Formats: sequence, structure tokens, C-alpha cells
Amino acid sequence: MAWRCSAPTNAGLIDNLTTANILQTPRIIAAMKATDRAHFSPRRPYDDAPQSLGFGATISAPHMHAHALESLAPMLRPGASVLDIGSGSGYLVAVFSKLVRPGGKVVGVEHIKELNEAAERRFVAAEGTLAKELLQKGEVVFKTADGRRGCPGEKFDAIHVGASIPVVPEVLIDQLKSPGKMFIPVGDVNEDQYIYEYTKDAEGHLTRERLFGVSYVPLGDVEYYYAKGRKLVE
Ligand code: SAH
Repeated sequence: MAWRCSAPTNAGLIDNLTTANILQTPRIIAAMKATDRAHFSPRRPYDDAPQSLGFGATISAPHMHAHALESLAPMLRPGASVLDIGSGSGYLVAVFSKLVRPGGKVVGVEHIKELNEAAERRFVAAEGTLAKELLQKGEVVFKTADGRRGCPGEKFDAIHVGASIPVVPEVLIDQLKSPGKMFIPVGDVNEDQYIYEYTKDAEGHLTRERLFGVSYVPLGDVEYYYAKGRKLVE
């Protein structure tokens, strides 16, 4: 039930996700509590439902963020590198950044320039001078590019994909370190979509597991999104 964890406050929402057993890992719970969704969700930040960001994009529902963070938790250690494809609001970039400090790196890749600029502003509003420092040092990067290519030339401990694609691009698997883990919705829009976890072990051996059915916007062409509207929701 998408709305069952809604609450009047950020702390209440995270408590409800914990009671529902979607969240279990204390470090993840602490990072989500320390990242107020009000900075990233233009409307109803504590509702357990997606909210419009404009351009046909949405900030995902809190329970989906929780599932993604729990799935990738083993990789989210200080010093780790994380790639967030379709970073949208920037919320997960902010949470990942808390989990990989000190010494880690988070790259958010978003193809809508306006959304990416807003995400960076939201990140700075949420984290203040620390955000500016992390951006300056390149420990947090908001990159405007086609995420279907990942982040060429780099490898990551964890890859999160926030939009659905029918076939997983081989380059994303190549950009996973050994060991490494990827959380990705797979499937066409208007058809069945499922979350898949791709896990590379220390020897580079890849396994794949289907988790549950979902409904994500497509990891697609920029024109599809601009056709949905050119106004940022703030
Ligand atoms: N995790 C984000 C999800 C945003 S919705 C959040 O919770 O805020 C999915 C995002 O993927 C949208 O912002 C959309 O613009 C972006 N997207 C879709 N196709 C893309 C592509 N080919 N490359 C990069 N970003 C893409």
C-alpha cells in the first residue's frame, strides 16, 4: 500500500517505514532521518507516494527510496563510490553522500538540465556549507547527461537507477566494481516492470535477482520528458 507509511513529519515517516520492516539497517535509518524530504519534494514531502517535479519526472515514493537504500546497504560504506542514474530531485544523492562520507563519491546523472540545477540547489539548501564543500571537492557531482551510458571511465561500488528500461545496458554492468551492486527497475512503461538486483562478487562473478513489481517513469529520451511539460515544480 503506497500510502501506508505517510506521516506528518520526516521522523514519523522514517519510523513508519521502520515499523513496516522496509527499513532495517540503523545507518540507513539515521541517514534518512537526517535528510529532510521537505528540501527535495515540492509537495507533500511526508506522503508515501511519488510527487511531481515537473518535466514528467517525479521524486520516488519514500518506500521505494527505502527499498533501494536497504538493497545497496552492504556497499554504502565510508569511502565508497555511488552512481545515481536519473537522480531527479537529488534526494538519494544527499542520502548516499551521508553514507559514504568521509572519502566517498556520489555522481548523480540526470538528463533534464533544469531538474539537475534544481537538485543541486536543493542539496545546498539541505546541507548548507558542507554541500558546497563536497561539490567543490568533487565528492558530490550532479552531471547532466544520458544515464543510459552510466558515467564513462569510472567504476562504482553501487549503482542506483531511478527510471525503468526494458534491457539493462551492458555498460552499467561494466561500471560496477567487484564486488559491487546495482538496483535497477527493468521493463517498458505501461508493461510489467520489476526491480532487479545485480550483484558482482569479489571475483567479478555476476548474479541477478528479481525482487518485486514496480511502476517507474522510463529511462528514455529527453524529448519524451520535455513533451510532458517544461515547467519546474518548486
Ligand atoms: N530517484 C529520483 C527519481 C526521479 S524520476 C528521485 O527520487 O528524485 C526518474 C528520473 O530519471 C527523472 O528525473 C528523469 O528525468 C530521469 N531520466 C529519465 N531518463 C533518463 C536518461 N536517459 N538519462 C538520465 N536521466 C534520465
